[in-house]
Amino acid sequence: MSAKRLLLASNNAKKLTELRALLVPLGVELLAQGDLAIAEAAEPFDTFLENALAKARHAAHASGLPTLADDSGLCVDALGGEPGVRSSRFARDARQGEGDADNNRWLLQRLHGQAQREAAFVCVLVALRHAADPEPLVATGRWPLSVLDAAQGGGGFGYDPIVRPRGASAGSVATLTEAEKNAHSHRALAMRQLVAQLHERWHW
Ligand code: IMP
Repeated sequence: MSAKRLLLASNNAKKLTELRALLVPLGVELLAQGDLAIAEAAEPFDTFLENALAKARHAAHASGLPTLADDSGLCVDALGGEPGVRSSRFARDARQGEGDADNNRWLLQRLHGQAQREAAFVCVLVALRHAADPEPLVATGRWPLSVLDAAQGGGGFGYDPIVRPRGASAGSVATLTEAEKNAHSHRALAMRQLVAQLHERWHW
């Protein structure tokens, strides 16, 4: 491959900025799916890997460009990995409301009286050279956490206020600075692995 152009199969501006910064050393130009008027793909599967692969393949097919897609969520050990790929719609699926605050309240309610509190934020990234690439690049980032008994802190988004990095003695992910979160997060871990693979496997 000559020009290092990669299409991000997402319209999330924050992800685009974060990933662009990590790709600077490789001289990779990262394009946004919305700029090419490509619709977002459905995410109907049970695993992060299947959803990320489906999104990357959809964008590669529509654009003819190498693509990158991600899928992420919170996996709770005591719930067999739930909410997982359903993290953003956890409360809605159970008719318990909608949005971050309701997701957090519903998760705390599901874990009420449960002593086992281990969980992890998980992020899977998939990169394809073209829609029929038989050898996708796959990178997984896993950030071990404990689920608190009540929300703490006002930063971050999603489940951040009700989870604490494993090993920390106080606070929650929502009390970390953005820089602290970005240094340890599931997304950062996966992105660093992916950048190494782009270099080694695609010669970027
Ligand atoms: P997406 O992969 O960006 O669509 O994220 C799916 C869902 O997982 C989000 O809506 C959040 O509920 C949850 N999630 C993923 N990453 C994080 C995070 O860093 N903090 C809090 N929640 C997250």
